[in-house]
Amino acid sequence: MKIGILAVQGAFIEHKHILDSLGIESFEIRQKKDAMSDFDGLILPGGESTVMNKLLRELDIFETLKKKINSGLPVFGTCAGVILLSKKVKNDNFLCFESADIEVERNAYGRQLGSFLAKEEFNDSEIKMSFIRAPKITKTGKGVEVLARVNGDIVAARDKKQLMTTFHPELNTDIVHKYFIEMIKGI
Ligand code: GLN
Repeated sequence: MKIGILAVQGAFIEHKHILDSLGIESFEIRQKKDAMSDFDGLILPGGESTVMNKLLRELDIFETLKKKINSGLPVFGTCAGVILLSKKVKNDNFLCFESADIEVERNAYGRQLGSFLAKEEFNDSEIKMSFIRAPKITKTGKGVEVLARVNGDIVAARDKKQLMTTFHPELNTDIVHKYFIEMIKGI
């Protein structure tokens, strides 16, 4: 199994460290030829979604990844990565892959509460969840499974082969990456 990690901006290296520790091969996607190579799963990291959206198009990676996601490549988006996948951004006017049947609100916790740590259950394990200027998943379509909540807000969800967390699991735990690996294997 080989996982591609989008590495044009943001917190991609931490994902690689987690995958290394789990013995899973991974590589960084920085240009079109990386995106065109063969791999079994894709990670869209946290960072700045507007910048990533722009770079994806400037580097001519966008169409290649969009096609792969649309044809069922398993994808795991964290924080800004969730925004890139969502069909609707409530408080902004850009869209990227539009593949996940969710609506998000960017920077939804405001400035005061821009960053915080929570502890909640994900797939029967209690894990630490780091939120950094995180979005909220404000609506989910019929086929979307909610995997975790913090104070009632959806913080992890799955739309078929797309896994999404509004927090940064790569900073605290390997539990969500293990779930993603199982998700890839199950296909
Ligand atoms: N605030 C960022 C955005 O809207 C997301 C932050 C993050 O990925 N940690 O794109």
